[in-house]
Amino acid sequence: MALELRPNCELCDVDLPPSSEAARICSYECTFCADCADGVLHNVCPNCGGGLAPRPIRPAHEWRPGLSLAQRPASTSRHLSPYSRDDIAEHTARIASIPPAER
Ligand SMILES: [Zn+2]
Ligand SMILES: [Zn+2]
Repeated sequence: MALELRPNCELCDVDLPPSSEAARICSYECTFCADCADGVLHNVCPNCGGGLAPRPIRPAHEWRPGLSLAQRPASTSRHLSPYSRDDIAEHTARIASIPPAER
């Protein structure tokens, strides 16, 4: 099972191509840009409440047989958060001060 590598930030909808170093994900692969992750979400996933980490970049080159971006392409299915900005602000305020390992 590989990461989907979702194509956009689920909050501001900016493009996050598979080579982006700005992509952040939670353990369920909810995906956000670094600006939203740091400036709006304060390391709280608005969907699950977990922490966010840099998304690994899948190699474009096939260094091992069958394993490359061409063999396992990124998802093209765009997701957007179903929650309002007010709801997310409340959710974040409730959780952000708790370290991810204790949530
Ligand atoms: Zn964003
Ligand atoms: Zn999540």
